Amino acid sequence: MGKYQSSRAEACLICEEYKLEGIHLFESFICMDCEREIVNTKTNDPKYRFFVHQMGKARTLQERRQA
Ligand SMILES: [Zn+2]
Repeated sequence: MGKYQSSRAEACLICEEYKLEGIHLFESFICMDCEREIVNTKTNDPKYRFFVHQMGKARTLQERRQA
């Protein structure tokens, strides 16, 4: 899960905006802003549940692919 700079904008899994910089989580993309927010969000913060939910979409896709 390395940082990278894409040559084209990709839709962020969390905020669903198109961004150039971010990380890849499985087949999905998380922009730098969201990644930073996830890192800085406490696990007992209600916002964290939203992030987990959004990231769960990526995990679901991955599991379907491996099945
Ligand atoms: Zn984002």
